[in-house]
Amino acid sequence: MPSNNLKEIDDLIKIISKFPGLGPKSAKRIVLKLMNNREELIKPLVNTLAKIYKNVVRCKICGNLKLTDSNCTCSKNTYDQICVVENIADMWVIESTGIFKGNYHILGGTLPALESKKNDGLLISTLIDRVKKNSVKEVILATSATIEGQTTAHYIQDSLKDTKVKISKLAQGLPVGGEIEFLDDGTLFSAFKNRGPVIND
Ligand SMILES: [Zn+2]
Repeated sequence: MPSNNLKEIDDLIKIISKFPGLGPKSAKRIVLKLMNNREELIKPLVNTLAKIYKNVVRCKICGNLKLTDSNCTCSKNTYDQICVVENIADMWVIESTGIFKGNYHILGGTLPALESKKNDGLLISTLIDRVKKNSVKEVILATSATIEGQTTAHYIQDSLKDTKVKISKLAQGLPVGGEIEFLDDGTLFSAFKNRGPVIND
């Protein structure tokens, strides 16, 4: 489609359209807002993004965000419990309920439902290492109530079979197909509070 826009502007619209929940229309509105606020928005945005690009990375062990040149909280070995989630958004939503203040392990997704042996770059082996090396007492599996989420939980449970760690899972109150990220605080709070031990079969 021919456009009267500068290529630079079209490129920016294309990038912003890729953000979750945004299409070309809202992307255009955002770009317009930016162009009308060069000093107040573009300048701090450019600076902040440059800083994040340079200084913030994902930890290769626990999947959390960390500063490039400092140790991740997962290396501190001062926690008894690890809460396992699929992604950072899940961690944020659990944190916002205030029910869990321990350490998190962010898998970076789920295993495909049908090929439960395929690891697909998820941070599962580093989780097993963390449990074995540190004196972790409980692993709380907070994956979604989707088939993939449950397949993943089962696989982790199986991989931890030889350790003595207590494994628990969020209570069954989770709606089937419920993704952690989209649960309301009340549901999540009670699922967490009423979590039960996993029975290995
Ligand atoms: Zn880490």
